[in-house]
Amino acid sequence: MSANDFLLGGFAPAPESTDHFEIKKSYDLFIGGKWVKAAKRFETTNPATGEVLSEVALAGKKEVNQAVKAARKAYGEVWSKLSGAERGKYLFRIARLLQERAREFAVVESMDGGKPIRESRDVDVPLAAAHFFYHAGWADKLAYAFPGAGVSPIGVVGQVIPWNFPLLMAAWKIAPALACGNTVVLKPAETTPLTALKLAELFEDAGLPAGVVNIITGAGETGKALVEHPYVDKVAFTGSTAVGKEIRRSVAGTGKKFTLELGGKAANIVFEDAAVNEAVEGIVNGIFFNQGHVCCAGSRLFVQESIADTVIKKLKKRMESLVVGNPLDKNTDVGAINSVEQLERIKELVKAGKEEGACIWQPSGGLPRKGNWFKPTLFTECAQSHRIVQEEIFGPVLVIQTFRNPQEALTKANNTPYGLSGGVWTDKGSKIFKMTAGLNAGVVWANTFNKFDPTSPFGGYKESGIGREGGLHGLSAYCNLSH
Ligand code: NDP
Repeated sequence: MSANDFLLGGFAPAPESTDHFEIKKSYDLFIGGKWVKAAKRFETTNPATGEVLSEVALAGKKEVNQAVKAARKAYGEVWSKLSGAERGKYLFRIARLLQERAREFAVVESMDGGKPIRESRDVDVPLAAAHFFYHAGWADKLAYAFPGAGVSPIGVVGQVIPWNFPLLMAAWKIAPALACGNTVVLKPAETTPLTALKLAELFEDAGLPAGVVNIITGAGETGKALVEHPYVDKVAFTGSTAVGKEIRRSVAGTGKKFTLELGGKAANIVFEDAAVNEAVEGIVNGIFFNQGHVCCAGSRLFVQESIADTVIKKLKKRMESLVVGNPLDKNTDVGAINSVEQLERIKELVKAGKEEGACIWQPSGGLPRKGNWFKPTLFTECAQSHRIVQEEIFGPVLVIQTFRNPQEALTKANNTPYGLSGGVWTDKGSKIFKMTAGLNAGVVWANTFNKFDPTSPFGGYKESGIGREGGLHGLSAYCNLSH
């Protein structure tokens, strides 16, 4: 496909090159430090073009068992016996290698997942490296992290991650697990396996002992077999609430520890005293970052009635300027929808929104001919009962409602089964305190949105999950603590 097949929003093409690395024609499973074949394979495609990128092994029950056994062996014989300082050295090495190969990882992430290169280059890859650096620092200081407690590893951790931040989620989960002395079996999502497999190559380069991290590719059945494996001591899952509930049922009574990071429907609340232009940028970042494939996306906008017309007008003007297209072009703001299935889900919910009486608006530009695309979209005239207000769309679709006073904003914002994140835009510090205390959400941003840092715990309430990842809270989820 040539750059001309994509719309470039009036900018000259600025595509990132793809000639500086290799995506192999096929990948096997990374088990016990070796590349292991499986009987079945599946293709992974570029959602922006439909082109097949590689063929990947599909782990069945047999291979899952092999991977868990390899992780258990590595735990008992090597990893749990190493000092924290030694474990930390490996993590520092992985972090540095990731930085060295940042460009390659960013391009592969954008090709396999559809996200703009600007985001994979400036957010996903640097943050993934930051997670390894941060947890490398803790590996030999666990006794100081939890003063007075005896700290020991849990054992083998089964990790299942989604397709929206494939590399970042892998780093987010592997780094604390290893820092605390656990070994890992990780299953990336079916549509985005490539950066996890590249990470396995990087672990080989780092000399990580065999079996400490095992990467098994496959679909839901592979994840299920991993989660249900009796030799897995802890499950860490990020994905949909439906699968999270299934996992919670399956671990009940087994004694396995678990953390679940699930869906969200964040309220982004803009008061009349907010800096409006900055708030509009925050709204755009909140919902259109990564095509809205973000569990903490600011997908419900609440604007104070007195400024609603102004904010919506400015928002529409800003949305007209968003560049939708080639994820590898450095000008692109909104990339491709990750899969045909996700595109269908977005379309189905948008149709429901129209049928239920909400008013849709989309910018005037066209979309590329091939691949999976959806225009940045907003809905006004929304009611609390509308499906688009209640359900996670996980796409570039914003639903807008108004409010008159802080209490009304809080009541509406909390009227959701989810409780992952939220945002507040105001000039008044006192209002920030009132709103952040009143929002039932794990993370609330004030006068900004979608800010992440390895030192900061992340996680939800209600149907958004259980447990925290990142910071000391996240670290504690990978240790047994005794007092
Ligand atoms: P899933 O929850 O199905 O997928 C997340 C991960 O879990 C994937 O690796 C998946 O494998 C795996 N998986 C699927 N079924 C099981 C199971 N029974 N046991 C263990 N692991 C399993 O999300 P989807 O990809 O289906 O997306 C559906 C919706 O979920 C989206 O529209 C969105 O609303 C929400 N979602 C939320 C995310 C979040 O971060 N909160 C992330 C992703 C989705 P595989 O993909 O290979 O089948």
